[in-house]
Amino acid sequence: MYQVQNCMKKYFILLIHILCVLSVFALNYFDYFTDERLRIEYYLTGNAKQTIFSISKLYKEPIWSGNRKNLVDTFFYGHYRVEVFDSTEKKLIYASGFCTLFQEWQLTPEAKDTYRTFLQFINIPFPKKTIRVVFYERDKNLKYNERISFYVRPNQPDIIKESPNKLPIVKYIKQGNYSEKIDIAIVAEGYTANQMNKFVNDATRLTEALFEKEPFKEMKSYFNVYFVQSPSQEEGTDIPHRNVWKKTAVESRFYTFATDRYLSIYDYNILGQILNNVPYDQIIVLVNTKTYGGGGIYNFYSIAISDNLFANYVFIHEFGHAFAGLGDEYENADEFNENFYNLLVEPWEANITTLVDFNKKWKHMLDKTTPVPTPVKGYENKIGVFEGAGYKSKGIYRPYVSCIMRDFQKPEFCPVCQNIIRQIIRFNTAN
Ligand SMILES: [Zn+2]
Repeated sequence: MYQVQNCMKKYFILLIHILCVLSVFALNYFDYFTDERLRIEYYLTGNAKQTIFSISKLYKEPIWSGNRKNLVDTFFYGHYRVEVFDSTEKKLIYASGFCTLFQEWQLTPEAKDTYRTFLQFINIPFPKKTIRVVFYERDKNLKYNERISFYVRPNQPDIIKESPNKLPIVKYIKQGNYSEKIDIAIVAEGYTANQMNKFVNDATRLTEALFEKEPFKEMKSYFNVYFVQSPSQEEGTDIPHRNVWKKTAVESRFYTFATDRYLSIYDYNILGQILNNVPYDQIIVLVNTKTYGGGGIYNFYSIAISDNLFANYVFIHEFGHAFAGLGDEYENADEFNENFYNLLVEPWEANITTLVDFNKKWKHMLDKTTPVPTPVKGYENKIGVFEGAGYKSKGIYRPYVSCIMRDFQKPEFCPVCQNIIRQIIRFNTAN
């Protein structure tokens, strides 16, 4: 009897699951959303232990360029998740995962006894009816906790509807309609008005380097790429540890969290304004500098450099973080990220594992004879489980000896990273 009941229960849960999945797929975009985009600007405030979300401004912008078939993310990547519910039917109508710089700052020594505030923004499709927006944050066991929930009425007067920017945009690759393609906006940073030819040349070179790598090469037709010619007053970027300061379009700077090579931006309001008329699903800020560095934050933006020997690889590596949520497959830690991963739980990044729940990862891609963990010798060009990844030499494993998410020795995405990227591309271009 117990077994029968248990079995019935399982079927019932399965049935509910199937119904939920079906209802997600049955969503008709235009039942809930317009062609436009809602940019939600908010603050993250806190310290090492506390996170407070507070809403700042809402903007109505011309174009929602995201996919209109797959509205609810099923990957569950990212430290945070935003969910949008129809307020009358209580139905989940949109969801997406993402990361922020704030979560990385929370791991710095400074965050132990200091509060800081970071400005952020996120885009969702513009609603036709009142919606409830919920932000979740993961705890150290990766469980989602609700942090803020608020209603947005499409006709509320305080939604800002400023006239769109008129910055010149080069449509470098235009494969089709923005709703069916992945749209990448490359934003000029540290290029003066007289240097826009250089920007277009640099952005062209780097875009071509990205589309030389698999799987982007074979799936180039799934992308549009736009170059946004945002001029800066001065050339270059801030390099605080050399006391170099420049007035630039989105105020980028090196030395994030006291790490020389960590390049980032802090005032995302300006970035949002620059892009308010651009269809984009991914932002790449391209910085006019010879200095080595970069950064990539899942489903937020990546930032790369123009003129360094490794500029092409940095551009591709950081895009791997921002587009596919790929984790770093290298071992060496900076002070702020040495405890980035809890070794007692399986990280959400699909290309690294603690072996706590390897079934969820690339186990299905391993040869049956490959040992776990895998020695490097004899398995140099095979998928395995190699110790050393996620800023740790012990306890975290990567799928390949070399990958562009680890080093630039063999600058390709490994087969596991390629597989993850293909899944994300297909999900975001379904029609
Ligand atoms: Zn990889």
